Amino acid sequence: MKVLVIGAGAVGVATAYYLHRHGCEVALIDANPAPGMEASLGNGGCIHANVVPPWNEPSGYREIVRGLLGRPSHLVVRYRALPSLLGWGLNFLRHSTEGRFLEGARRLTRLGKHSLACFQQIAAETGINFHHRERGFLRVFRDTSSLEGVTELSQKLSSDGAEFRVLTTEETIELEPALAGIEPNIAGGLYSQTDQSGDAAAFCRHLTAWLVEQGVTSHLGESVRVIRRVGQAFHLQTQTGAEYGADRVVLATGSDSPVLARQLGVKLPIRPAKGYSITLPAEDWLSAPRVPLVDTGVGVGIHNIGERHLRVVGGAEFAGYDRRIPMGKGDYLLSCLKAVFPDFAGPETVVDEDVWCGFRPVPAHGLPIIGNSGTPNFYLNTGHGYMGWTMSAASGSVLADHIVGKQPALPLHDYGLPL
Ligand SMILES: Cc1cc2nc3c(=O)[nH]c(=O)nc-3n(C[C@H](O)[C@H](O)[C@H](O)COP(=O)(O)OP(=O)(O)OC[C@H]3O[C@@H](n4cnc5c(N)ncnc54)[C@H](O)[C@@H]3O)c2cc1C
Repeated sequence: MKVLVIGAGAVGVATAYYLHRHGCEVALIDANPAPGMEASLGNGGCIHANVVPPWNEPSGYREIVRGLLGRPSHLVVRYRALPSLLGWGLNFLRHSTEGRFLEGARRLTRLGKHSLACFQQIAAETGINFHHRERGFLRVFRDTSSLEGVTELSQKLSSDGAEFRVLTTEETIELEPALAGIEPNIAGGLYSQTDQSGDAAAFCRHLTAWLVEQGVTSHLGESVRVIRRVGQAFHLQTQTGAEYGADRVVLATGSDSPVLARQLGVKLPIRPAKGYSITLPAEDWLSAPRVPLVDTGVGVGIHNIGERHLRVVGGAEFAGYDRRIPMGKGDYLLSCLKAVFPDFAGPETVVDEDVWCGFRPVPAHGLPIIGNSGTPNFYLNTGHGYMGWTMSAASGSVLADHIVGKQPALPLHDYGLPL
């Protein structure tokens, strides 16, 4: 069976890996000159698979309204992006009821748990180095009510496999001594010991190279412009004029997915949410943190990339596909890092040229879309939102099983196109 995977981000590369394992003839195609150069390039690196709520929190509309009014908010909506968000936004709100939010969190947690096993298996089988670590993931809370809210949700997700420990302030510092500088501000923590982390871009590059050694074809620097159905198969054309044929096609183009899907009459409820990151040298900082964490009060994620670098991520902006970096963003992220680790020993300033931004492919209904598209032999693996690195390995595994007619580890109707 000849399968063409469009998109060599974490999701596409993982899908190619599992299809190859099933003995398919796989080709991977990507618009960029190297794999993993879009959302998978500078993301937070956390594989936080336990306790995974969708963004569709019942109170989420308040954040959006605050963002629109220019007040401090975790979700910023730019006015110029509003027209493209109207229908999508109503759909988002429709899926933000208590019941749908909880059901979404259950499905995400089950997919995430499967991903943990898949990442271990990929790392063991291929031996690729993507700075894969199994040090867990820590959420730090600065107010008791937020900690109680997440604890309550986590308890509900226990039956879906969520593993976590609620930590006191002292236990939080014991786990991550680098937090000692803000001890008086910490209300407690929630630690998921079995969570993992890794460099998604290195994963994409090295896994693609490994697959090519195993006989998978990769076509880089080829942006698919046209996709047409020819009988039961497909014909694709790229910006260079190159043409490709395939029996089956997987669309794994992240936030760009709606454009190609539309050519085959498939409407995807996905919009881009921009986020930012900086990657700083930290080798001279002897007491650097070791556990990937998010400080929910500051709204920042901090994670080691290997032993020498620290990545700081933040921001969620609905601004269309606008790649501009606001002035001072680098120093803002650095100030967030220092708000969590006041004794950070590293650069005093970050120029905006060193700030990365990427687009999370955010689905209106809060769940990735994995499986059939409605057009026979055209499959979807997209819309992974803020969790795409975490979910990539499991998404690739279950979709590849489905394509070759094997029973996936999880029921795909849980991750289908929403009605
Ligand atoms: C600031 C930030 C922090 C994040 N932190 C985390 C985190 O800690 N943990 C986590 O799990 N997730 C995180 N995410 C989310 C995660 O990065 C994404 O969900 C994930 O990378 C999506 O992977 P993907 O493969 O679907 O898309 P992408 O990585 O964007 O890959 C899509 C690929 O498709 C290619 N493509 C697009 N159109 C075409 C075309 N027409 N022809 C050919 N190729 C095409 C692109 O070149 C690209 O390589 C974060 C995201 C951001 C922005």
